[in-house]
Amino acid sequence: MVILSGCTNKGTNEPLSKDGFMLGTFVKIKLYDSKNEEILDKAFERLREIENRMSLNIVDSDLSKINNSAGIKPVEVHEDVYYVIKKAKEFAEISSGAFDPTIEPIVKLWGIGTANERVPSEEEINNKLKKIDYNKVQLLEGNRVFLEESGMGLDLGGIAKGYGADEVQKILIENGVKSAIIDLGGNVFGLGSRLSGEPWKIAIQNPFSDNRGSHIGTLAIHDMSVVTSGDYERYFEEEGVKYHHIIDSKTGYPANNNVSGITVLSRYSIDGDALSTAFYVLGVSDGLALAEEIEGIEVVYITKDKKLYLSSGIINVFENTNEEFEISIP
Ligand code: ADP
Ligand code: MG
Repeated sequence: MVILSGCTNKGTNEPLSKDGFMLGTFVKIKLYDSKNEEILDKAFERLREIENRMSLNIVDSDLSKINNSAGIKPVEVHEDVYYVIKKAKEFAEISSGAFDPTIEPIVKLWGIGTANERVPSEEEINNKLKKIDYNKVQLLEGNRVFLEESGMGLDLGGIAKGYGADEVQKILIENGVKSAIIDLGGNVFGLGSRLSGEPWKIAIQNPFSDNRGSHIGTLAIHDMSVVTSGDYERYFEEEGVKYHHIIDSKTGYPANNNVSGITVLSRYSIDGDALSTAFYVLGVSDGLALAEEIEGIEVVYITKDKKLYLSSGIINVFENTNEEFEISIP
């Protein structure tokens, strides 16, 4: 994997920052109250470690080993991997399988974002659908994981970045950092607050604009994770149809509903990451209902008809800054 990294620290008020490509995404960490580059290096080492254990592109990662032993034997994995799979199963249960980490066979079939992306036949999809079932992931003592059937596979692409953001947050806190932004693609963590003591303002991207600087609104937060999933992140088009990377585990096709983007506010980024995928698949009405049930979770849905649907607790922190988008009641 290509790593583009470098430390920059122009001028005294600029944060100390480092970026690179990790966990399949562009990562940027900015420290506002520290000039210690070693902290950034430690954070990136930790992300590399997580990637080496959870990536499916790495043949000897723990995750690859689990998948290669599906239906054959349990595999002992690092406790990081065991923990993330355990959380993934919990989110699968909470969301009735809308988030399902056993989605790997279907994800591989579509190959979205790879050189092999294509629209599979219905027969292919139906065959692979039989292999999707988070209840068949056994978590055994001694950090061992077993997939009950051959042909099954785990994909942690919908949760690993959130775990990574939380782990980086821990390292920063351990090293005395009190003001930082951790950005792993769509996963943003605002650690502490701005140096002035004011909250971070995290912008929610406009899904309808190619311009990354165009926003629909902002969230004023401190010590919170803001995760966004959208159909504009990774997709291909064929005969005018857009096929994106969030799969409805019931149909085997990219989730096809009125959602364009979903942003999740949570204390832990692992929760926000898994839930953003789940909320995307569930759609506005079921997703909002679930968000109200889970404590400490708030959401902003953006629909294809440019409406915004908010969970009840987000009113105080969300500011709509784009008049093209209208706040609606489901
Ligand atoms: P992003 O990677 O753009 O941040 P998500 O967090 O929503 O988006 O994760 C999407 C990734 O999660 C996909 O690339 C795939 O690896 C995996 N995935 C897709 N559909 C599901 C699903 N229904 N449940 C769990 N993981 C999924
Ligand atoms: Mg996710």
